[in-house]
Amino acid sequence: MTIANNLKNVKDDIAATARQCGRDPESIKLVAVSKKFPMEAIQEAISAGHTLFGENYIQEAQEKIDAIEPEATYHFIGHLQRNKAKIAARIFDVIETVDSFKLARALDKQLHDLGRTMQVLIQVNVGGDPNKAGVTPEDTERLLTEINELENLRVVGLMTMPPLTDTAEEARPFFKALRELSEELQSRKLFRNVDEVQLSMGMSGDYHVAIEEGATIIRIGTAIFGQRQY
Ligand SMILES: *Cc1c(COP(=O)(O)O)cnc(C)c1O
Repeated sequence: MTIANNLKNVKDDIAATARQCGRDPESIKLVAVSKKFPMEAIQEAISAGHTLFGENYIQEAQEKIDAIEPEATYHFIGHLQRNKAKIAARIFDVIETVDSFKLARALDKQLHDLGRTMQVLIQVNVGGDPNKAGVTPEDTERLLTEINELENLRVVGLMTMPPLTDTAEEARPFFKALRELSEELQSRKLFRNVDEVQLSMGMSGDYHVAIEEGATIIRIGTAIFGQRQY
């Protein structure tokens, strides 16, 4: 299967899943996760009409993005170290994995210097998984209100990676928990100037369930680009 074929299949499947649960397929953004794949793979996806990508590693992303920009949009979805905030603020359009105020402040400073603002998501560790990054559900409100005070960041939603489960169905409670947390925060108007709160959740193995639970951003690598080699 080619990347173009895979993209078409995944997009058709997302649309079908959305319709089955009464959602507008247009309300779901597909982030094609290109980590560990070469620039050529991204180019192939761009040629097939797809322009939104996700990357996990700053150095790898920098090499690819600097060579391909400005044809596409990039989300950072990996763990961001503060000493990489400067590069991240320059090369990414959205950072989905903000999980501390220190990191947010470092990004804000770099964005100020660059004269730009950025949309971010707060990564929430809904499963309390010690191997996963993210702020606890309980601490999300505080981090959100703290970031609201920063000038150059705008929190547009929440992101999560549930603990590894054997079946997609077992991930459902985590997706549901993220949606309910966002609804709770949104009902109290804690997202500044955001009409529709973004929920980034769901990967190749469990995106159907994530869509049923309200995902507006899904992050798919393997089903588009194939198995990654580490
Ligand atoms: C790698 C990765 C994905 C994509 O996972 P696949 O199973 O290949 O679809 C999605 N989200 C994050 C945060 C990732 O690190």
